[in-house]
Amino acid sequence: MCRTSCQGYSEPNSGSDLASLSTRAVLDGDEWVINGQKIWTSSAKSAHWMFCLVRSEPDAPKHHGISFLLLSMKTEGLDVRPLKTMTGESFFNEVFFTDARVPKDQIVGQRGEGWAIANAILKHERDGLGDPDVTLSRLNALTDLMKEETVNGQRIMDNPIYRDRLMALQGEIMALRFNDLRLLSANIKKEQLPLATMIVKLQGTELRHKLEGLAIDVLGEHGILYEDSPHLRNEGTWQNDYMWFLGLIIGGGTNQIQKNIISERGLGMPREPRNK
Ligand SMILES: Cc1cc2nc3c(=O)[nH]c(=O)nc-3n(C[C@H](O)[C@H](O)[C@H](O)COP(=O)(O)OP(=O)(O)OC[C@H]3O[C@@H](n4cnc5c(N)ncnc54)[C@H](O)[C@@H]3O)c2cc1C
Repeated sequence: MCRTSCQGYSEPNSGSDLASLSTRAVLDGDEWVINGQKIWTSSAKSAHWMFCLVRSEPDAPKHHGISFLLLSMKTEGLDVRPLKTMTGESFFNEVFFTDARVPKDQIVGQRGEGWAIANAILKHERDGLGDPDVTLSRLNALTDLMKEETVNGQRIMDNPIYRDRLMALQGEIMALRFNDLRLLSANIKKEQLPLATMIVKLQGTELRHKLEGLAIDVLGEHGILYEDSPHLRNEGTWQNDYMWFLGLIIGGGTNQIQKNIISERGLGMPREPRNK
């Protein structure tokens, strides 16, 4: 049977500065007692499990006071409230914990090691966002669209301004695709290419958002239709993905934060001042 998990990291006051999270877990006998709130928890309504960051060591420096717990979404004291997004779906949720009790041994790693574990998982999440292969297939679909759509009898593909935008996008997508192949070769040779890895989420999500936006421009007045309009092209996937990828520019750590990571860890530039 398929089991799905959701990621309980973000809180109302802890997003980019995730290490400041305040959901508390206190050990009481053989159980952790959790109180606090998570937000933007994707798929929490349908998930069976949550992997969750909690503050278990309040006196330790903030990055060392966090633990990583696994908990069933059926845990008593856990309340999931869906949030509606601009796509019209309720994919996100708020999750409230009120004296929710979780067995002591459902900790991953040791107490206070949650930050390192969460970062390892986030790295995998970012690698999977903005996949260049999918973006390339969307580029092919956009190329077809530009051959089909016309203005005053002229194919959009024959309009030099739109064609120029398509070519510029194609160049950037091919660069990302070759970066991906470089990463694949490095992986096979067991080499590390940290900088090439770090740019994937930043570039991939922004390019995809730009691509879907170009398709909406190509569609003209049809581009602003949504949901159940009978005149929708391609079931509204261009509009939906345009909004969805705006979300992915934020999810998994915003692209401003990715730029900080690239400049500091990738390029060795000075670190930005941080709160202790
Ligand atoms: C599609 C999507 C799915 C998500 N899924 C999940 C999930 O499943 N689980 C989960 O826990 N969370 C999830 N999130 C939440 C996501 O991780 C946070 O939204 C994100 O980390 C940003 O936090 P925030 O919203 O609190 O924004 P803030 O941290 O409040 O940021 C606001 C703005 O300030 C900028 N900013 C903040 N700090 C800096 C800085 N130091 N330098 C430069 N700019 C800065 C940010 O880039 C942003 O533009 C999801 C979000 C989205 C959009």
